[in-house]
Amino acid sequence: MSSYHSPLTTDRLPPAAGPYSGRFAPSPTGPLHFGSLVTALGGFLQARRAGGTWSLRIDDIDPARDSKAAADIIPRQLEALGLGWDGPIVYQSARTARHREVAEQLLAQGLAFRCACTRRQLSAAPAGADGPIYPGTCRRRARAGKTRHAIRVRVEPGVVGIGDPVQGEIACDVAAVLGDFVIRRADGPVAYQLAAALDDVDEGYTEVVRGADLLYSTLRQVYLHRLLGLISPAYLHLPIAVNAKGEKLSKQTHAPPLDSARPGPQLVAALDFLAQQPPAELGTYAPADILAWAVVHWQPGRLRGISRRPAAAV
Ligand code: GLU
Repeated sequence: MSSYHSPLTTDRLPPAAGPYSGRFAPSPTGPLHFGSLVTALGGFLQARRAGGTWSLRIDDIDPARDSKAAADIIPRQLEALGLGWDGPIVYQSARTARHREVAEQLLAQGLAFRCACTRRQLSAAPAGADGPIYPGTCRRRARAGKTRHAIRVRVEPGVVGIGDPVQGEIACDVAAVLGDFVIRRADGPVAYQLAAALDDVDEGYTEVVRGADLLYSTLRQVYLHRLLGLISPAYLHLPIAVNAKGEKLSKQTHAPPLDSARPGPQLVAALDFLAQQPPAELGTYAPADILAWAVVHWQPGRLRGISRRPAAAV
């Protein structure tokens, strides 16, 4: 990633207007693990410290990976940890019509194109910062709507950047570093990038707190906001929790689910991961008391410049 410190090369976003509004947006691919707890807790503390609201959005738009069981267990895990959200749970699948409409609109405007490249064809593409860079094969070809195709955004050169309170100023030329990206998959669902970009603005979040593994996704989403004339929220990227092999905790790397019977020690381990220096005895307190301490002491600046950290074994 190119990271600059000159304000001339960084797109400064306007400060959020009005009260703080944040969200936690897990994909229901499995129960929450320590890595998801870190993201949920960081977002919760940002919102509560600002006296704002914190919503729970279940990103259930990928039928091949999502499960109803996970969508049901995640809210219960958050409740056991005392991480209460505001308002009803938001289900991303309820907004599929809006996502599809915008994908079609970008296509009609020539800002996106139909792409019939197979995974195999793309395997020879040059490596970018976050996966292969699309070689442009379908950019200039008119593909009939009936052939199986994905929809890709036509990314034009230009620097996109964010100012992040933890990661600093991050900027890159999305065209050069990431390339044209998919906004609707060939197998049907609208891609995460477009769904998240639209929902985060439409739902009025003033700040998105997420893991640093999504930094490049954020830059793609800010690119989409610009294309659509939308004002981006602010962003804060927390360090990602990695296992002993240096892999991000996830279902694929067999991260164990959180144990709802031991919320205190898990909250304290997550606070320690977030460099909040919790006192040792805090783990014996009730979740509500631990969180009350954490809101008062919350200082995300302690994580400055850290993008990954080893996860605690809890
Ligand atoms: N639902 C996605 C995830 O769980 C993205 C979250 C986000 O956009 O912050 O990784």
